[in-house]
Amino acid sequence: MRLYDTYTRSLVELPPPPGPVRMYFCGPTVYARAHIGNARPFVVGMWLRSWLRANGYDATLVHNITDINDKIYDAAPGASAELAERATAWYLEDTGDLGLGMPDHLPKATESVPQIIGFIEELIESGHAYAADGDVYFRVASFPEYGRLSGQRPDQVEQGEEPSALKEDPRDFALWKANKPKTEDTWWNSPWGRGRPGWHIECSAMAEDIYGPAFEVHGGGLDLVFPHHENEVAQSRALGHPFAQIWAHNGMLRFTGEKMSKSVGNVETIRESIDRWGREAVLVFFLTASWRKPIDYSEETMTQAAARLDTLRNAFTLQATDGDERGWDAFAAALDDDFDTPAALAVLHDWASSGRLDLLRRGLAVFGLESVAERAAAPDEIVALAEERVTARVERDFERADRLREELASAGWQMRDRQDGYDLVPL
Ligand SMILES: [Zn+2]
Repeated sequence: MRLYDTYTRSLVELPPPPGPVRMYFCGPTVYARAHIGNARPFVVGMWLRSWLRANGYDATLVHNITDINDKIYDAAPGASAELAERATAWYLEDTGDLGLGMPDHLPKATESVPQIIGFIEELIESGHAYAADGDVYFRVASFPEYGRLSGQRPDQVEQGEEPSALKEDPRDFALWKANKPKTEDTWWNSPWGRGRPGWHIECSAMAEDIYGPAFEVHGGGLDLVFPHHENEVAQSRALGHPFAQIWAHNGMLRFTGEKMSKSVGNVETIRESIDRWGREAVLVFFLTASWRKPIDYSEETMTQAAARLDTLRNAFTLQATDGDERGWDAFAAALDDDFDTPAALAVLHDWASSGRLDLLRRGLAVFGLESVAERAAAPDEIVALAEERVTARVERDFERADRLREELASAGWQMRDRQDGYDLVPL
């Protein structure tokens, strides 16, 4: 299997099974309910792990929780720790409801401070970092390969941090920040005084704490290449650690169409998306684009994903027909070639239209969609509600129909209209 690597800008072959393939995917900063775009690295990481395990790999996934950050201090002055804890629970609940299982490790920054401090101490001892008035900064000039991952010119580096007279060089970035009592209500003791870690050092320290100095795949959104991942590379490789072999960056999710745009603040959270469309449609939506290309989220694209899902589901009610279907090898070849899910989805549709239900069931299971093959029988009272809703719609009482839809949803069922009736689908 091969995957695109941002560092070498080429497709890189994974070691043969059983590997291991140890993956670290940057997780969310927890200060609000996460929007649906934040689900993409989670979904890509979980699908990769699933596919690798299905092929005999010893695959693990670490997904960190950034629960120390300016955004959290800004969002909940005086109560940042409580907000971070609540938002962590939301994230775990919402991604859990995608039905893909959970990463092997979910380390939190707040629980990794001793490891982070140890890492910073090593950087200071080796001359790659310096303490200044309670802060500690990484000395960018000490690492000649700086900029190679992101293609930055070393003389044009902008860290996006507030300017500080304590830096030897404006390109240097913070590893540790002295506590600002007016705006920061959490702190940890360190050899440099009260303070808290910077964001980048958190990931170097947590990844190496779990995997040691070398592992196979580092993932995260394309927006993290600079400065976050460039700085992770610098911190770890400055100490002579190989760190990640492959840098796998997923493309960004764009809110498009008339109803949704980030600029008008009208975006959907993971929670809202699952509640509206069902987890299966959300997963089919993510299958429609290559993991490293942008993906457009709108009413139109989600409606299309729901329709594709119906086609796959309906295959299990159809008679097998003689088609010109492709076998498992075609599906495996698509995923082994840079995890090409649109090509794999096309194979699933081939199997659906040709009635190869055994293959279709097995293929769907790779993406956590085995439930599509099960036509769960709805209990009588749910069918009764659905029938009532059909009547309400015939009588054009749409308010009542909407109420009944909500009642069905709160009982865990979704009613999907078809031309000749409806399906009842568990949420
Ligand atoms: Zn990270």
